[in-house]
Amino acid sequence: MADLMTLPEAAVVLGADVVTLVHIIDVGDTVPTPPVPTDFEDIVFAPDDIERFRVELRRRRFEDFKIEYSDVYTEDTGPGARHLEFGPGWRDILCEFCDGLREFQNAGSRTRLRWGKEKFGAMRLFYDCSDEIATYIAERKGIAYGKSLRTCQECGELARLRFGHSICLTLCDRHKHLVGELDPERDGIILDVDAWSRQQREGEPG
Ligand SMILES: [Zn+2]
Repeated sequence: MADLMTLPEAAVVLGADVVTLVHIIDVGDTVPTPPVPTDFEDIVFAPDDIERFRVELRRRRFEDFKIEYSDVYTEDTGPGARHLEFGPGWRDILCEFCDGLREFQNAGSRTRLRWGKEKFGAMRLFYDCSDEIATYIAERKGIAYGKSLRTCQECGELARLRFGHSICLTLCDRHKHLVGELDPERDGIILDVDAWSRQQREGEPG
């Protein structure tokens, strides 16, 4: 038993925070070899688990993407820097958007993805581009947004927006537990929070 590592110890070795490791375990596709206890504080890792978690963390930080797309994505640095703040299931959508940026860049218009995040279960991308291509890139950003609402943020499978009581995320059947207990007032009824909010505003008198 002596060679087992606690959650905080694993976090230090992996250079990750405890919350991130607990999230990975909660997703359920990469878990430690010893049985996972109900209380996350009691989680332990076997020595061989560390490398698997290292690989998973690299995937979640989009390390390969950053190398492959360094011509159209330069990671933000300094205080308040933002990153690619969404799950690995959206990688294909991200790459497709950046393939688009690359086309414009190869045609002579400079453009760069700056950062991205998940909000209300949808992918939001922030970029710089010149005025003459702004409309085209905005259209592609809209396509990425729409696809993200049909793609599990964790695994890339077909998905829809899942409403818990305090959080909503786009997840497949296998990962929908991540929002906790579903809110029957909203789950399966609101499938796009932005579109729904617009409708509510339009419905208001005067
Ligand atoms: Zn999934």
